[in-house]
Amino acid sequence: MTYFFESYGCQMNIAESASVEQLLMSRLWERAPSGEQADLVILNTCSVRITAETRVAGRIAHYAAEKKKRSCTLLVMGCMAERLHDTFFEEFPAVDYVVGMFERDLFSDIFAAIEQGRHWQQLDEKPVNAYHFASSSYTEGSFQSFVPIMNGCNNFCTYCIVPYVRGREVSRSRDEILAELDVLADRGVREITLLGQNVNSYSWTDSESGRSYSFPSLLSDIARHIEKKGIIRWVRFMSSHPKDVSDELIDVIAREPAVCKLIHLPVQHGSDRILSAMNRRYSRKDYENLVERMRKRIPGLSLSTDILVGFPGETEEDLERTLDLLKLVRYDAAFMYHYNPREGTKAYALPDRIPDEVKKERLDRVIRLQHAITRELMQSRIGKEVPVLVESPSRNNPEELFGHTEQGEMVVFEGALDSSFIGNFVVAHLVSLHGRTFRARMIHA
Ligand code: SF4
Repeated sequence: MTYFFESYGCQMNIAESASVEQLLMSRLWERAPSGEQADLVILNTCSVRITAETRVAGRIAHYAAEKKKRSCTLLVMGCMAERLHDTFFEEFPAVDYVVGMFERDLFSDIFAAIEQGRHWQQLDEKPVNAYHFASSSYTEGSFQSFVPIMNGCNNFCTYCIVPYVRGREVSRSRDEILAELDVLADRGVREITLLGQNVNSYSWTDSESGRSYSFPSLLSDIARHIEKKGIIRWVRFMSSHPKDVSDELIDVIAREPAVCKLIHLPVQHGSDRILSAMNRRYSRKDYENLVERMRKRIPGLSLSTDILVGFPGETEEDLERTLDLLKLVRYDAAFMYHYNPREGTKAYALPDRIPDEVKKERLDRVIRLQHAITRELMQSRIGKEVPVLVESPSRNNPEELFGHTEQGEMVVFEGALDSSFIGNFVVAHLVSLHGRTFRARMIHA
């Protein structure tokens, strides 16, 4: 039997789709080239923006029409499945199964029923409201893997739906995480990204030894653990909340060569008034001090961030504060977006919404400034020798190889090179910059 995934939203969804795919593969299912050719279509959904849900509604309508032509099963999982759970079938009768965030245990029963050509129906009570981490989120053939270490969020930023759909924070057992790293190393994975809505509030207590692990201690243990096999060489993590970046964490990042020196530190805004309305729990000064402490302690640190423009009540002056924060910090990269009211969040009820055209114009100014900074920083790296993880042949020229740096920048190697470099780290001389991609010469493997 065949399956096809459409995954929307964040990296956590991509990791969760990969883990369900692992389960299907273990049951000898095969990936179909498209949803139109699959026996089972799985939509892994996002609720962060209303536009993400509208898009999924469009895809369900598409597959509803498909189901009139041939037999196939439509399953919806992820945040939208959790949010609309009980009303989903009324709203979208073409959907066969809805699997909420805390019902992962149902997948095996549902897949077994599809294999036997019957419809699965839940006879027992609904399962307890607990999040289960999958044993692996590995994607076949990839040299990179996400490793979820926690789920949920306790922060309740006023614009965000995540705490309502993913629930409160729960952390994964340290032993399970280390065991997954061994499996990933055996499969040739070279780089991992530890995932969670708020990774640095990771907290786990071993019930046998009574020993507790925080994010800095976990990160340190992971660095020690992967050193033994020497296969996984780069560790990233996201997302971190600035209020939870401790000096201990800064020390671990500085000390461990395996921890990539590109840290994502979402600031969201540069104005104290707006940060407070967003319930971000730090002031602009706190954030600036944190950046200063990190830069002092971690030489060559690169930073990326998230910027949310057009929050209710934002004035021109507030926006200027964000623009001058970008100039001050000089982030290597930023995810920039404008505020969209999200029903079910506190900010939904706030007055003084900013008109769409004003939000777009402000976002445009933020993007133009940040892109100019990113380009300047990238240009300053031309001539440097840097490690690159070679991933694949280049899409534009299959004769050339493609990879990325520790800072996540894309690199294409000049000239035809042996494909045996794929999956390995090499040292590259950055020769020139074309758009967002460096052209480079390989110095040595
Ligand atoms: S920290 Fe804030 S923005 Fe991030 S998931 Fe939690 S509530 Fe949402």
